[in-house]
Amino acid sequence: MKKTLIILTIIMLTVGCSLNNKNKSDKKKASFSKLSYYKDENLDRYKKYKENNPKLSDEDIVTRVNIGLDNNYYTNTIKTPFLNSIKILSNKYYYMPNDYVPENLEKISSECSNGTRQLVKEARLSFEKLCITAKEQGYVIRAMSAYRSYNYQSTLYQNYVDKDGVDAADTYSARPGFSEHQTGLVVDVDDGKYSFTNFHKSSSFKWMQDNAYKYGFIMRYPEDKVDITGYSYESWHYRYVGIEAATRMREEKLTFDEYYFRYLDK
Ligand SMILES: [Zn+2]
Repeated sequence: MKKTLIILTIIMLTVGCSLNNKNKSDKKKASFSKLSYYKDENLDRYKKYKENNPKLSDEDIVTRVNIGLDNNYYTNTIKTPFLNSIKILSNKYYYMPNDYVPENLEKISSECSNGTRQLVKEARLSFEKLCITAKEQGYVIRAMSAYRSYNYQSTLYQNYVDKDGVDAADTYSARPGFSEHQTGLVVDVDDGKYSFTNFHKSSSFKWMQDNAYKYGFIMRYPEDKVDITGYSYESWHYRYVGIEAATRMREEKLTFDEYYFRYLDK
């Protein structure tokens, strides 16, 4: 009799405990699913990521898992959907086909460029406006790299791998197909005095920090977002996203990856 009672108690405790866990799990789902960018198929991944990163907010958990950050870079890669659009995403999970060349590539005016550089028309027009306004205010901002083809990136990346090895090269150079330069919406700039890798030391950089968004450009790889972008800080690399998106990203302190998975990935 005593034995039966003990067994019964154990059973009741076990059932109670698992019900309690189920409640907790349902509550967690409810708090994630309030977000407009919540995806039901990612629920288990959100829960796991939350377990491993308990200090992150629900917004960050859902955004980061949607980006794919719970998987290693270059795993589960996806062909990026918005080709020939300023919404195009290029990062370590989203790639462009090797024959993808954006439409409407145009040469940047020599006044705003060091050498022959090309951008997609909309980005080209906006970059020239930016460069000319900066110049009127006493700042030099010129393109020293812009559109790069798949094959060009392939050679560039391979040279870095030969020099530094794959792991190091991956922190600062994109694998072919994954380079944002292939979108035709990206420009690397310098001020004609500092080398581009030291652009952050120039007064032109300060000007860009205050003004680039007004022309639809964002600094794509900020210093405090390396864990999200997967790229080390690049003060010289600017991506055209349009004025509305650039303004919102600035206000909400989001990278393009975060912005994309909150507002564009519908
Ligand atoms: Zn760049």
